[in-house]
Amino acid sequence: MSERFLEGNLKYVEEIFSPAADFYNELERGQSPRALWIGCSDSRVVPNIITSAPPGELFVHRNIANIIRPDDPSLAAVISYAVKVLAVRDIVLCGHYGCGGLIALDNGLVKNEAVNSWLEKAAPAKEVSDKLGGDVNEEERLKVLVEENVRLQLKNLLLIDEVKEGVEQKKLSCHGWVYDLGTGLIKVIDKIE
Ligand SMILES: [Zn+2]
Repeated sequence: MSERFLEGNLKYVEEIFSPAADFYNELERGQSPRALWIGCSDSRVVPNIITSAPPGELFVHRNIANIIRPDDPSLAAVISYAVKVLAVRDIVLCGHYGCGGLIALDNGLVKNEAVNSWLEKAAPAKEVSDKLGGDVNEEERLKVLVEENVRLQLKNLLLIDEVKEGVEQKKLSCHGWVYDLGTGLIKVIDKIE
């Protein structure tokens, strides 16, 4: 199985890297990304592909259901480095419809302690989607859950000192987006600036 990816790497070098050697050699000298992208680990939501962003433009952190936990040391380090050292001007928090993590939170059918404990931080979004009336069908309710989770996690970003300071000093904007697996389009949900 892993051979497939190594073969893919050779194909990448031949077809993409080598023809743009000047660009990649310049990137080797350092990075200056335009934005920090925080998204879901889902294999179908690949930040650089869905935004047509070449290497070097997005500093990326991904976890299940794009959850912001200020007590997550990996996320804290990524944000601190992106904001303080790389001086990104934008943080994009991007969820996606059909998010397996949020569906698991919604139906409670996944019996995995690590996953369930992680997903607890999205519970307030579920409270909102649970309150929707009976005229909202299942698909729409799950879409609301995904969008509410983006709103919630966008707010949670402000619990992190570097983000709060950056926003207050007008040096940083935070964007909440949702990617649609069915159309390939990104929907803008909310913005903090
Ligand atoms: Zn997901």
